[in-house]
Amino acid sequence: FASPLFADLAGDISVSFEFFPPKSERMEETLWNSIAALAPLKPNFVSVTYGAGGSTRERTHATVERIVKETDLTPAAHLTCVDASRGEIEDIARAYWDAGIRHIVALRGDPPREGERFSAHPEGYDCAASLVEGLKKVADFEISVAAYPEIHPEAESANGDLDNLKRKIDAGATRAITQFFFSPETFLRFRDDAVAHGISAPIVPGILPVTNFKQTSKFAALNGTDMPGWLERLFDGLEDKQDARNLVAATVAAELCRRLYAGGVRQFHFYTLNRAELSYAICHMLGLRPSSPKIESQAA
Ligand code: FAD
Repeated sequence: FASPLFADLAGDISVSFEFFPPKSERMEETLWNSIAALAPLKPNFVSVTYGAGGSTRERTHATVERIVKETDLTPAAHLTCVDASRGEIEDIARAYWDAGIRHIVALRGDPPREGERFSAHPEGYDCAASLVEGLKKVADFEISVAAYPEIHPEAESANGDLDNLKRKIDAGATRAITQFFFSPETFLRFRDDAVAHGISAPIVPGILPVTNFKQTSKFAALNGTDMPGWLERLFDGLEDKQDARNLVAATVAAELCRRLYAGGVRQFHFYTLNRAELSYAICHMLGLRPSSPKIESQAA
């Protein structure tokens, strides 16, 4: 693949944005300002996470429902198997469908307490593949699932993890969104391995613009993501310089996206952490604009 400059990027990409449900009024305001700022980029969908142990069930529901009612965006609700029976999950899914929510990001979830092993609810689903199968029986949802370019920490092997991803797609998911990562080669190799494994659904890279190296490292250690030494060095000395950290974050994430683009990637999923500026700036550098001037001038 030719390696394009930012100046050459035509904006022929589609994006999606991930948010988490707000815990307070102030966080709610931040979230809605961010949704409003990112909406003109016409994301393919915007997703709302589900807290560990189902702890945000109501808040996730309230957020996606408000997106349906107050915007023309397509919401996707994350849903996990943690601490819920199959019946409870069916009820949640039916309520989503009735509220006009047609896209679910189906996940097994992590145990409510860090460091514990996942154990399924006695009457629940034990993995994401069975959840996908169950959701498809409730209604014809669009379903996205998780994928791991650096292998899920509990997987027996890279091949076993790909077998699992294939089971999720075969059960009815139409897209995989990856865990965050920092090496474009790792993602591109994973994508090629997935294709060789018979997985034809799109695998969309999950892009995390890192502004806080320490915090991200803790999270990365739990999910097996490699935090490169060069990234640590870039943040070294910027602990109390938030603006500089933001500039570094946008530059690093935009460069990652540029190299993924060079490898043929045209869909990107952004972990926004409920902030619009960084994701907006990166999309802008990839050539994405709020609306096409060509269409505007034709309309005029
Ligand atoms: P699964 O696909 O079920 O896989 C879990 C593990 O079991 C893997 O190691 C897999 O290889 C193995 N496995 C599964 N079935 C088999 C089998 N039959 N034989 C052998 N091995 C098997 N967590 C939340 O709590 N809330 C969220 O909103 C959330 N959103 C996320 C969004 C994305 C894009 C990603 C990448 C992750 C998200 N997570 C979220 C984290 C996710 O819940 C964890 O990573 C969890 O540990 C695994 O979930 P999964 O859906 O990938 O599980």
